[in-house]
Amino acid sequence: MSKAPLPEEPAQLIDTSKMSAGQRAALELTEAARDVTEDGSFASRMFMGKLDLSGIAPFPEQSAEDRDQGDAFLQRLETFLRENVDPDEIDRTGEIPPEVIAKLGSMGAFGIKISPSYGGLGLSQTNYSRAAMLLGSYCGNLTALLSAHQSIGVPQPLILFGTEEQKKKFLPRVAKGEISAFALTETGVGSDPAAMETHAEPTEDGKHFVLNGEKLWCTNGTKAGVIIVMARTPPKVVNGKSKKQITAFIVEMDTPGVEVTHRCRFMGLKALYNAVVRFTDVRVPRENIVLAEGKGLKVALTTLNTGRLTLPAACVGLSKRCLEVVKQWSKDRAQWGAPIGKHAAIADKIARMAANIFAMEAMTLLTSGLVTRDKHADIRLEAAMCKLWGSEKAWQMVDDTMQIRGGRGYETAASLKARGEKPVAVERFLRDCRINTIFEGSSEIMRLFVAREALDPHLKVAAPVLDTRLSWSKRLPAALKAGVFYAGWYVRQWLPFGGPSTSGFDPRLAKHVRYAARTSRKLARSLFHAMARFGPKLERQQVLLGRFVDIGAEIFAITASCLRAQSLIGQKEKSAEVLALVDYFCESARLRIDHLFHDLHHNTDKEGYRLAQAVLEGKHENLQDGVLK
Ligand SMILES: Cc1cc2nc3c(=O)[nH]c(=O)nc-3n(C[C@H](O)[C@H](O)[C@H](O)COP(=O)(O)OP(=O)(O)OC[C@H]3O[C@@H](n4cnc5c(N)ncnc54)[C@H](O)[C@@H]3O)c2cc1C
Repeated sequence: MSKAPLPEEPAQLIDTSKMSAGQRAALELTEAARDVTEDGSFASRMFMGKLDLSGIAPFPEQSAEDRDQGDAFLQRLETFLRENVDPDEIDRTGEIPPEVIAKLGSMGAFGIKISPSYGGLGLSQTNYSRAAMLLGSYCGNLTALLSAHQSIGVPQPLILFGTEEQKKKFLPRVAKGEISAFALTETGVGSDPAAMETHAEPTEDGKHFVLNGEKLWCTNGTKAGVIIVMARTPPKVVNGKSKKQITAFIVEMDTPGVEVTHRCRFMGLKALYNAVVRFTDVRVPRENIVLAEGKGLKVALTTLNTGRLTLPAACVGLSKRCLEVVKQWSKDRAQWGAPIGKHAAIADKIARMAANIFAMEAMTLLTSGLVTRDKHADIRLEAAMCKLWGSEKAWQMVDDTMQIRGGRGYETAASLKARGEKPVAVERFLRDCRINTIFEGSSEIMRLFVAREALDPHLKVAAPVLDTRLSWSKRLPAALKAGVFYAGWYVRQWLPFGGPSTSGFDPRLAKHVRYAARTSRKLARSLFHAMARFGPKLERQQVLLGRFVDIGAEIFAITASCLRAQSLIGQKEKSAEVLALVDYFCESARLRIDHLFHDLHHNTDKEGYRLAQAVLEGKHENLQDGVLK
């Protein structure tokens, strides 16, 4: 394996010299596209042992004006959905009626966040998340259509990075209902954009790029008028080294050479207009580049940072719908002499659902509220944790809903209706929900992403010490600097003070906030110990890192829940009810955290990895005896 050339200063903080070429390429590309902020966010400070509430407290509630603006649209949307959309019929036919799409367009549902000056509704991120909740509670297919269009399709990247000309040209079109999409994935490119093959070369006069390649699973692709395409453009030489370039292009679907070759069909989301799109010598004007040549991955990652908030918002909606189903059924269905909700095994699931819904909504509204307050707020980690935690918990909730509905959960709505029962579509919810832990950053990739950002402050201090590409004359002073930093920082992680003031909190919430502060220090210490133990090899300890991320997500969930609860109590919500719910949530999150801390030191990670490799190498063949091959 060739060693990376010795840089004067490391090109990025992670030493890639001992990685395979594929790993190195993937890491260098994503490192180059990372958003770097000076201050860090609530979550990044939390991973460093500081539960700093200053940026998130009090809970960022909507202003009355913002809420009113959202309410007006949400009421129209709700009435329209109720009166005109049959989600089971959409699921059955695999088609969204064209008049539904047209009406959504005319009511502004395709341009919720686009400024009125470009023909949109100009609603805030919070109102957009509320719309996603409403849609998510009703129809997964419509949620995916509108989300792929405006969370990752043309609107969001142009709002963030578009030139005035691009905004004027494209935003009014997409705001009024011309469907857009986002094309990154290829057959060889799922979580690893470095392997991208779609490419675009400039014409001789430099006015156009000629695009060739094929994109897979492009949601809305079969209906879109305009899409964002990620493509490799000619490499650039930086410090004598050839650097891969990925560029984002706005591509009109009626350009000669653009062809939808296949509509993909899935386990759920049956009416997804998802396409394989082929590009053959497609001429794209240079002015259709978003941000700049070579900045495509930055466009994609930054778009997704906020864009992926839609998904947990939709998960909140679906989970609330599940709770409604479960509440009704647990009261109506009696077995063994009592309504099933009275049996402890079912009650346990209902309590978990209620608590997790509260936390999921608190995390999502908090993070959305930060964006509403400041469009440029650094919410990368918070949004990623909302997506990771929300999509996993929503899956668990839909699964529990199916269990509680018993055989009826497994039966289709149409079959239930045909034999005279209420057509509750739990099996559709389950099919539609499963993809949420996979797309827009799979759970595994979210854990790696959060872990990378959580480690960033440590990498900034310690990476030069551990970077074997640097000479000792550089590593020694770095070691001294790191020593001074850690002497102060490490001691602080053991001290029982330095947490946030809890004076404004109800005592039942204050104790959980103090716990969150204590636990964030314990998390920071444990992360540091893992760094000391594994050094640069920590990057390979994915399961271990995943536990740190999961602890962080639970601390975020506790904090967001307490802040929201405090805010609701202040608004004269039924405080005893709210406190009981949040208390239960925090106590159960604490148990999960205890479990995760325990597993940091008592696990079978190493043995499991070895066993998996043995299985992959063809050992343990008897495990496949007696089955059809
Ligand atoms: C219904 C649907 C809609 C979609 N819509 C779009 C769209 O509109 N636009 C678009 O561009 N794409 C879209 N996608 C693609 C989607 O984003 C990808 O499926 C997702 O990024 C994962 O890629 P993959 O499926 O190729 O999995 P892979 O990347 O091949 O991963 C397979 C498994 O390995 C894990 N894995 C991968 N790398 C690592 C690693 N380094 N460490 C640990 N685990 C790892 C993954 O988490 C996953 O569990 C869609 C996909 C589907 C199914």
